[in-house]
Amino acid sequence: MSYVFPPREIPAVAILGRSERFPVHRIYCVGRNYAAHAREMGMDPDREPPFFFCKPADAVVANHASIPYPTRTSNLHHEIELVVAVGRAGQDIAVADAMQHVFGYAVGNDLTRRDLQFQLRDKGRPWDISKGFDRSAVISAITPGAHAVDLAAARIWLQVNGELRQQAQLRELIWSVPEVIAELSTLFQLEAGDLIYTGTPAGVAALQRGDRLEGGIDGLETLVTTIA
Ligand code: MN
Repeated sequence: MSYVFPPREIPAVAILGRSERFPVHRIYCVGRNYAAHAREMGMDPDREPPFFFCKPADAVVANHASIPYPTRTSNLHHEIELVVAVGRAGQDIAVADAMQHVFGYAVGNDLTRRDLQFQLRDKGRPWDISKGFDRSAVISAITPGAHAVDLAAARIWLQVNGELRQQAQLRELIWSVPEVIAELSTLFQLEAGDLIYTGTPAGVAALQRGDRLEGGIDGLETLVTTIA
């Protein structure tokens, strides 16, 4: 195969304890998957179920990165999230079989241009430019293993400059990890290499230049980011 110019390298994420990297195929995200966050966005989680949107695969940013403050926003928000790394393809996956498709987990930050998101939402327009911008999918190294995280007991948290901003239990997810995988696989053919950002708990807020973010989930590598 020859190309008119050299193809870009495949976006990839580090794997704890392995020299091989995880090649990213697609990035899926779940919206409003914690009730308290749905409410802080002005929505009723009992009336509107969670939903999906996407980011480009090359929006991934590795741990310990310094990220330039994005263009065209004055309200950049953090969203700390559990990320599921898919290791096996499938379509119409049953909830009972979903965990067989998990390669591992990571800590992610779904960076959001909140001002643009609200403008787009209110006009009924697609969210792409508010969610899928360059360097918007921050992610720690992946810890391999479908049971690397205790989904019933693990805590998720985010500190900005040492101050706690977001905190929840993973069991508060409206759609659990297997439910997210099952539901998503009815809409798309899931592939090895897909990343699924499973939604953020309450406490999202604005970031400033110079902020240092530290986010974690019990059992996973802590995600550290600075906003340049
Ligand atoms: Mn999110």
